Amino acid sequence: MNASARSLLAYLGLNGPTHRSELAEATRLSKAAVSTLARNLLEAGLIHEVATARSTSGQGRPPVLLDVEPRYGFLVGVRLDDDPLISVLTDLKGGLLGQEARALSERPEPDEVAAGIADSVRALLARARVDPGRLLGVGVAVSGIVDAAAGIVRHSAILGWDDVPLADAVGERVGAPVLVENDANSVATYEHLYGSARGTDDFALVTVGRGVGGAQFVAGRLQRGHDGGAGELAHCTIDPGGRLCACGKHGCLDTIAARGAIFRAARERGLRAESMTALEALAQRGDPHALAALREAAAALGLAVSHLIHLTDPGLVLIAGSEIHPNTVFATAARQAVERNVLPRRLTTLNLAFRPLEPISWAQGAAALATHSLLTGRLALPPDGYSARAGSRAPLA
Ligand SMILES: [Zn+2]
Repeated sequence: MNASARSLLAYLGLNGPTHRSELAEATRLSKAAVSTLARNLLEAGLIHEVATARSTSGQGRPPVLLDVEPRYGFLVGVRLDDDPLISVLTDLKGGLLGQEARALSERPEPDEVAAGIADSVRALLARARVDPGRLLGVGVAVSGIVDAAAGIVRHSAILGWDDVPLADAVGERVGAPVLVENDANSVATYEHLYGSARGTDDFALVTVGRGVGGAQFVAGRLQRGHDGGAGELAHCTIDPGGRLCACGKHGCLDTIAARGAIFRAARERGLRAESMTALEALAQRGDPHALAALREAAAALGLAVSHLIHLTDPGLVLIAGSEIHPNTVFATAARQAVERNVLPRRLTTLNLAFRPLEPISWAQGAAALATHSLLTGRLALPPDGYSARAGSRAPLA
């Protein structure tokens, strides 16, 4: 596929149904060129026409929009953590076609993980009755530092892995391109393609879980940095001389705002809450210890986020995680901390949002990552080319 066809496809993938003339304007191609490219992509089955209900003027033929054909091909996304392996099957527009969880042993070896992923891929395809030849890619979201270009997990504390070439190990078993990426980067890509960051080229995601994770898009591109650590806030020092962190430093954000740190702070105050929901319930009833535990963590998180805002000026900061909800004590205190610590000018254009993540959200992020890579050309479409592929398209069950 040439670069012009690729940019047209990427625009549709990132923006949804678009009129041909709008496409020409957005991609700076002539209307004639867009017509030709669109015809080729339509014939290949990569895009389809969407009829709108009526023209905006109420007269004449309804305008026809173009969009990515969701069932051109399929993606599998996998979340690799120390919990069970969670996998999803999606279409090219993120539509969920299946999911499954597979138990792994504690501290699994790379071979066991790669075999487990391959088994999950086969099971998902079989259950959805998708021809394995139509699997376009597999994304794997890993907690840790990942060299995405090389497909290598550089370091994962949770898995106890260093320098594991996971993409190759999985690729050999599934026969499709495999991408390995940091888990927060994967969720950020999902948000950019389908979620609240759609249409926002500059945004940051901060995840609160076992640790604090982070990811950033700048000018529409996922930032990886020199060593895969761009956007990470976990080990920013918030309390110099504070509690010892697993990394060996003192007073890192992780030691104050990760879930375990919040529950520990609650225990130290004599509370027995082991979930954010339970702590929130106590705080809503005015329990001063629950309020203090949540506010202390949120203040630290908000302070770190305010530095991030000053550094990269995002239009959106999304704080997400298991049991993270808007309009909670935690969210309100985090928002107040951001407001206290950033220049007022930044606040006028900033959207700060909170969103819960389910275990499956991370796997959907991994599938979105594979989709994003296909649309933007980092991942090649099948070697038989998209026009050859069109001839073999069979209707799905
Ligand atoms: Zn640390």
